[in-house]
Amino acid sequence: MQNQIQDILKQAIEKINKCNTEAELLETEKSFLGKKGSLNEILKGVKDLPKEDRAEIGKLANQVKQDINTHIQNQKQNIQDKALDAILEQWHDVTLPGIKPQKGAVHPLSLIQEKVEEIFQKMGFMILDGPEVESDYFNFDALNFKKDHPARDMHDTYFVGEPQNKDGDKLLLRTHTSPVQVRGMLQHKVPIKAIIPGRCFRYEDQDATHEHTLFQIEGLYIDKNISIANLKGIFQEFLTKLFEKKIEIQMRPGYFPFTEPSVEFDFSCPFCKDGCRVCKYTKFIELAGAGMVHPNVLKSAKVDPNEYQGFAFGFGLDRLAMLYHNIQNIKHFRENDIRFLKQF
Ligand SMILES: [Zn+2]
Repeated sequence: MQNQIQDILKQAIEKINKCNTEAELLETEKSFLGKKGSLNEILKGVKDLPKEDRAEIGKLANQVKQDINTHIQNQKQNIQDKALDAILEQWHDVTLPGIKPQKGAVHPLSLIQEKVEEIFQKMGFMILDGPEVESDYFNFDALNFKKDHPARDMHDTYFVGEPQNKDGDKLLLRTHTSPVQVRGMLQHKVPIKAIIPGRCFRYEDQDATHEHTLFQIEGLYIDKNISIANLKGIFQEFLTKLFEKKIEIQMRPGYFPFTEPSVEFDFSCPFCKDGCRVCKYTKFIELAGAGMVHPNVLKSAKVDPNEYQGFAFGFGLDRLAMLYHNIQNIKHFRENDIRFLKQF
């Protein structure tokens, strides 16, 4: 009988270890230790044993009962631990690699704006800002565009219906950054050396190189002895620093109401020696309009044109960024397509 009891312990341990759920465990416990369980079935025969053996069998049976119970409790704990682990794993597996947050990047227009600003700041220019909703006066009148001046037609303008400003002047979305020339001189007085980066708006047809919203950089340098040679020198220096390459400047006569004389600037193609697609095989690239600030503009800014003179220039930052980054379509700048923006 002792052997049979030992066998039951063995079988019980084996079966308990195979249990995967608490229900299976309960069933196993019943089958070994229950009223009709195998241990009790064997113990039914105790009464037939000689008296002196009964006590020993009873002791052994109790011991085996205890052992089986201990194993059942241990296995129960294992099953509960596993269940908890399974739940935790669903929620928080510290060994899984994390989800990388999407990192933002600087917009290509901002990138080039920063470069341009840095170069001009090192040459002693300050950076000015002005309103995007501008008065007809500052956008046109103060810049020597008379009311019936045909040059006004060159600037297809978005007018803001209401309200007019307190002087009864029409409001519009500024068509260029030049109004800040006069605003800057009125606020900071002369001599002045400033660049004005900012958005401008034109009501015009859109294509690969034209948009209704454009980003301009305006420059202004007014002092007592400023000539067009300074303009050429500063512009050449700026482009040479930007492209990290010796750049030549070529000037052609131009026309703007707010400068006299006016010029158009081309710069030597930084991408080729003998002509390429970017410079349309001319070895020069058109970039800026410029000139000596018109005396009437200085008067608008309460500056005496007999005492002060200087130059102004303006160019499209979009165009410069397209050249700099080799971007084919101006639309990309404002479409916010992450595939485009990620390239920079
Ligand atoms: Zn070229």
